[in-house]
Amino acid sequence: MVLDEAVAVEQSPLILRDVATPLPKPGEVRVRVHVCGLCHTDLHTVEGDLAPHKRPVIPGHQIVGVVDALGSGVANHKEGDRVGIAWLHSTDGSCEYCGRGLENLCVNGRFTGYDVDGGYAEYTIVPAEFCYPIPDVFSDEHAAPLLCAGIIGYRSYRLAGIRPGENLGLYGFGASAHLVIQLARHQKCNVFVFTRSEDHRAHARELGAAWTGRAEDTPPEPLHAAIIFAPAGILVREALRVLRKGGTLALAGITMSQIPALDYDLLYHEKIVRSVANATRQDGHELLQLAGEVPLKTEIEVFDLVEANQALQKLKKSEIRGAGVLRVGTGL
Ligand SMILES: [Zn+2]
Ligand SMILES: [Zn+2]
Repeated sequence: MVLDEAVAVEQSPLILRDVATPLPKPGEVRVRVHVCGLCHTDLHTVEGDLAPHKRPVIPGHQIVGVVDALGSGVANHKEGDRVGIAWLHSTDGSCEYCGRGLENLCVNGRFTGYDVDGGYAEYTIVPAEFCYPIPDVFSDEHAAPLLCAGIIGYRSYRLAGIRPGENLGLYGFGASAHLVIQLARHQKCNVFVFTRSEDHRAHARELGAAWTGRAEDTPPEPLHAAIIFAPAGILVREALRVLRKGGTLALAGITMSQIPALDYDLLYHEKIVRSVANATRQDGHELLQLAGEVPLKTEIEVFDLVEANQALQKLKKSEIRGAGVLRVGTGL
């Protein structure tokens, strides 16, 4: 499913087209894609909220499949290995950020389904060092949302600095938040979920939320940390309003509408607001290991690859419960 030009997803911009099967270069592997998860970033790519990089481009960066061809020099994988591919496609390994363990901020970082073709396709290419083993407890479909929703959720959770037993606020309750709440409950945190959707509030309660409400509501106790998943800048003010002294507010999205002017009182007492950008391979390996241990339950709605436009339209309207996953190889 190829994107030539970014337009509103209601116009079904992704087109089913035959493209040449890609060949792995030295150090790369080719993966035969089984499934690819849907992410809000795909929607931002398709609709042009993110500056266009590669055109045409095949979106998709929560890929599970099997290694099907090896470039020269690849020693850590063999044909038939089940692997996952995430948003971080490659880095230079040599810039100051890579040197400081912040490869997520690499100045030459390239991203799957954005700078290079991704997983809304039967085959894709990835550097051998940038794919992940998938724990056996997960089916392909249930593993897919771990690869971005899970990994970004995990990094956001880590950077929010929440400790066991503390109060965590989650704003928005989609694919990422429904995994983070399970991590937080596993660590005995009290989770307060803020979302407009009554369906999502009910889902949050099923997954152990101590309280649910709307962003303008006040939870029964103030928060030690919070994560905003919804791309609405106004939520920053609402979250700071109920954040304790010294608490961290992490912003998980790749885009956000303008953040309104704030009274300094809302930020004073050493509150921290920080964004979360991409994730490192270490985040990916840690999340996948933890996901198998908890084990995280991914709730999914499965679509055929050819339904990618309709699936993204549902994602845009918050009509997918949990995470959307495209199954490749049926309906083609
Ligand atoms: Zn770098
Ligand atoms: Zn993503």
